[in-house]
Amino acid sequence: MPGSFAGVPVGHKMRRMNGYRIVASRERGPGRPRTRYHRIVSVTGPLQLIQVFANTLDASPGADQLGTREEAAAWLRAAGLLPAEAGLSNSEHAALLRLRGSIRDVLAAHAGGREDADAAARLTRALADGRLVLTVDPASAVQLASAARSSYPNLVADIAVAIARSAASGTWPRLKACSVQQCGQAFYDESGSAAARHCPAHAGSL
Ligand SMILES: [Zn+2]
Repeated sequence: MPGSFAGVPVGHKMRRMNGYRIVASRERGPGRPRTRYHRIVSVTGPLQLIQVFANTLDASPGADQLGTREEAAAWLRAAGLLPAEAGLSNSEHAALLRLRGSIRDVLAAHAGGREDADAAARLTRALADGRLVLTVDPASAVQLASAARSSYPNLVADIAVAIARSAASGTWPRLKACSVQQCGQAFYDESGSAAARHCPAHAGSL
């Protein structure tokens, strides 16, 4: 079902330097036309990766694109987060679901305008798997990289860097999970007040 991966960003590039895998994502300017993805997600850049990852769990029961190890690996490959030959172990699959769950809980806290120390701690722990380091090349160019060689830590590093970039650009607090209990979909709050609590589909909800 290739169409189900259409919301996934493809701008991630991977390369290695000094033995570290450099984590880099192509930035897209706001308002720039997006070819086949523009109907599915409205945000651009690093935020989009986090949003589509969070939304792999749909509101309808049983609609989890990462539900099994195989499904998760297929989704990650289509997203460019996992090499074609790589899979996920059971423990990596469980860690991936914990990572997603902690992101969704943090986004729910954003929507609620509250702090969630437990979710923040879980997200911090889950992102530690990415083993991020800073590399400095001879020309003194500085880049974030993953110190890990295996594929799972590298994909966590991609997500960690996406979060760091969105936080640096100030968009992270505006990425929220819809407060409607049966929904929980991640959305980008474009309101002037930054106080939206519901996704566009539930914008009229109390
Ligand atoms: Zn909603």
